[in-house]
Amino acid sequence: MKLTAEEIKPVQHFTEPPPRYTDATLVKALEAEGIGRPSTYAPTLSTIQDRGYVEKLEKKYHPTEIGFVVNDLLVENFPEIVDIKFTSHIEEEFDEIAEGKMKWTEVCREFYGPFKKNLDEKEASVEKQVEISTTPCPHCGKPMVIKFGRMGKFLACPEPGVKVTLPMPEEAAKIKELEEKTKDERCPICGKPMKVRRGRFGFFLGCTDYPKCKGVSKIWDKTGFKCPNCKIGDVVLKKSRGRGRPFYACTRYPDCTFIMNKKPESEEELRAALKHWQENPPKPKVKKGEK
Ligand SMILES: [Zn+2]
Ligand SMILES: [Zn+2]
Ligand SMILES: [Zn+2]
Repeated sequence: MKLTAEEIKPVQHFTEPPPRYTDATLVKALEAEGIGRPSTYAPTLSTIQDRGYVEKLEKKYHPTEIGFVVNDLLVENFPEIVDIKFTSHIEEEFDEIAEGKMKWTEVCREFYGPFKKNLDEKEASVEKQVEISTTPCPHCGKPMVIKFGRMGKFLACPEPGVKVTLPMPEEAAKIKELEEKTKDERCPICGKPMKVRRGRFGFFLGCTDYPKCKGVSKIWDKTGFKCPNCKIGDVVLKKSRGRGRPFYACTRYPDCTFIMNKKPESEEELRAALKHWQENPPKPKVKKGEK
């Protein structure tokens, strides 16, 4: 039937992905699905982290690359084991064993027979996921294999027991580029040269005397100009997280709050920006997440 619009509301709406799990919401989800028991919640949370399937960032769980690979492999080859219904069903049977209503030998036999058969079949049929790279190993000269670690892919010597590893070529190129850019940087603690390192949140500079010296610093996008306000820091490119335009500010923030919108091209422009900044003091409100 024909309908007439009674009202039109101009409201902007953003779709949002479901929020990531935290300890509390994951346990709640397990409870709701009937998976696990109070005694198994804590081990479940620690096991998925110990095995590197997830990483906890700001209290939220993020799946890792290895987490995706393992999950895909299990869902494809052991769909009944990773099925939520199977898990909650077998937990019910455990309860019945505890209450004396079922015999544990029966429950185990019923499960283990088909499982063992499937496992043996898969052991023979599922190919070990070895990706070979074109990079020759510095140790044995054979092509290196691609492995998964907590930080993603890396190259490893194909010989068993040899622990020679290299970063992936794209990553090695990135490191080289950053090393070139930061070659004049010195350790803020001891003054020795710095080395590009990779952490959970990206690249940073660490003292070459590590672990003796724990000096670290950020890798800045420098403009080549010193801060006109404090004359100590450098004017660098900064990006506010999420929306917002990039801007240029002093590396000594929050000790020095000098900021300008445009990339400085000359000392004159810097002086003009300094004057503008002094005449228009920045609002005290500092958005969280600005780096
Ligand atoms: Zn090798
Ligand atoms: Zn140092
Ligand atoms: Zn400054």
